[in-house]
Amino acid sequence: MLDQAAIDALRRTQIPVQSLLIDGVWRPAAQGGTCAVTSPIDGSPLTTIAEGTAEDVNAAVAAAKRAFEDGRWSRMAPATRKRIMHRLADLIEKHALELAVLGVRDNGTEISMAINAESGSAAATFRYYAEAIDKVSGEIAPTPAGTLALLHREPVGVVGVIVPWNFPLMIGSWKIAPALAAGNSVVLKPAESASLSLLKLAAMAQEAGLPDGVLNVVTGHGSVVGEAIGLHMDVDVLAFTGSGGTGRRLLEYASRSNMKRCYLELGGKSPNVVFADAPDLEVAANVCANGIFRNAGQVCIAGSRLLVERKIHAEFTARVAEIAASMTIGDPLKVSTQIGAVHSPEQLAQNLSFVERAIAEGANRLIGGERVLAETGGTYMSPAVLDNVAPDATVFRTEVFGPVLSVTPFDSAEEAIHLANATEFGLSGAVWTSNISTAHRVTMGIRSGQLHVNTYGGSDITTPMGGMKQSGNGVDKSLHALDKYVDLKTVWMKL
Ligand code: NAD
Repeated sequence: MLDQAAIDALRRTQIPVQSLLIDGVWRPAAQGGTCAVTSPIDGSPLTTIAEGTAEDVNAAVAAAKRAFEDGRWSRMAPATRKRIMHRLADLIEKHALELAVLGVRDNGTEISMAINAESGSAAATFRYYAEAIDKVSGEIAPTPAGTLALLHREPVGVVGVIVPWNFPLMIGSWKIAPALAAGNSVVLKPAESASLSLLKLAAMAQEAGLPDGVLNVVTGHGSVVGEAIGLHMDVDVLAFTGSGGTGRRLLEYASRSNMKRCYLELGGKSPNVVFADAPDLEVAANVCANGIFRNAGQVCIAGSRLLVERKIHAEFTARVAEIAASMTIGDPLKVSTQIGAVHSPEQLAQNLSFVERAIAEGANRLIGGERVLAETGGTYMSPAVLDNVAPDATVFRTEVFGPVLSVTPFDSAEEAIHLANATEFGLSGAVWTSNISTAHRVTMGIRSGQLHVNTYGGSDITTPMGGMKQSGNGVDKSLHALDKYVDLKTVWMKL
C-alpha cells in the first residue's frame, strides 16, 4: 500500500546537481557543461545534470576497459560477484519508494505504476541475474573419442548501454544486470530528460561494492554522448532501447567503427484483437483501456490498436471510450492517478498532431486527444479513442507513444491476423477469445515478440522481452538476455 504522506515528503526534497560517474569518481563534465532537467508534472526546474561530451565518453570507456582487463570484476569469484549484485538488489528494495518518486519527478509515470515497474522490477532483475552468475556455465560438445571441445561463454568486454526516458530504471536494469552478471564493464547513457533514477542506481551499485570503473555513467545529449559511445572502437556491444530512428543511427555508427554488435529494442504498434466470444468483454474493455492509457501511452508495448470483431465493434468501442473517459488524469505523484504526465512539451505537441492527422484521414474521434490541466504548468493529455481508423491511415501504422487508441473492425480471424501484421512493428499484442483454436491460430499468425491471451502485458523477469520486424532484435530479460553479453569460444583439444 503506497503511503501518500511519504510520497509528498519525498517530492519536496531538493535534488542536488548531478555529476558523471567515471572510474568510481563523481565529477562534472570535462567541458563543464550542464543540462537543465524539468519536471513534466508542473514544468518546474528540478536540477541540472552534467552535459557529457566525447571526452567524457573516452574517459569512461578507458576506465571500463581497464577494469575489464585487470579482472577486478570479470575474474572476481562468482560467489562474490553474486553477493554484490544481491546487495544492490537489497539497496533498491530498501530505497524503492525514494527511487520511484525520483524517477516520476523527471519522467512523469504514475507512482502507482512506477513503484512496481521501476523499483520492483529493477530489484527483481538484479536478483535474477545475480543468481545466474554461478548457475550458467559453458558446455562440453559431444565430439568423437580422443577429442575434447570446450565451449566457453566469455564476457565481451565493454558494453555501451543507451536507454530512453520511459521506465529508465527498469530498462536500464534489464541491460546492466545481465551485462555485469556475464562479467563485463558498462558505460551507461541515460536519456537527458530522465537520468535521475539511474544515477541513483549507480551510486547504490558503488555502495553495494561494485569495483570502480565497472559501471560508468555519462549523461548528456544523444547526438553527442550516444554518438560517441556508438562510434567508440573499444565498445564491444551496444544495448539500446529507444526509437527506430536512433536505432538506425547506431547501426550506422557500428558499421563506421568496429562493427560492434547492436541489440535494439525499438517501438511498437501493438494490436489487441478482440473476438465476440472473449470470456468476459467487460474485463477485456478494462484491460484494453488500461493497456494503452496508463503512463499516458508511453509504454513500448502499449496496445495502441484495438481490432474488434465487427458484430461487437460499436458496443465494445463505446465501453472502452467510457472507461477511458473515467480515468483520473493528473499529478503522477498522487496514488489515485491513472494517467500521469506526457513526458515533455515536444511529445505532447507530437501526440496532438497525430490526433489531428488521424481525424483529417477519416477517423472518428469518440473522446479525448486534447491538452488538459494546462494551468498546472505540466504536460497532460486526455485519452483519445479514434474509431474506424483505416489500415492505411498514419495513426494505424506509426507509433504515437502517447494516449491515443485507434480502433478498426474485422470480420474474420484471417482478416484480424492480416490487420495485426500490417505495420512495420512486431513488439506485442493480445487475442481475446474463448476458443483455444482461435487463440492458437491468431497468436501463431501475428509476428510479434510477446503475445497475450485474454490478458495484456503480463510478463516477469523469466520471460524474454524483444521485438520482431522493425521492433528490434535480441531480447532483454530471461536467461536468453545473457547471450547478448558473451562471446562463445570453442577450444578443441586432441587428447
Ligand atoms: P530516442 O531514440 O529518442 O532516445 C533513446 C536514447 O537514445 C536516449 O538516451 C537518447 O539520448 C539517445 N540518443 C538519441 N539520439 C542519439 C544518437 N544520435 N546516437 C546515440 N544515442 C542517441 O527514444 P526516446 O524518445 O527516449 O524513447 C521512446 C522510444 O523508445 C519509443 O519509440 C519507444 O517505443 C521505445 N521503447 C522501446 C522499448 C522496447 O523494449 N522495445 C521500451 C521502451 C521504449
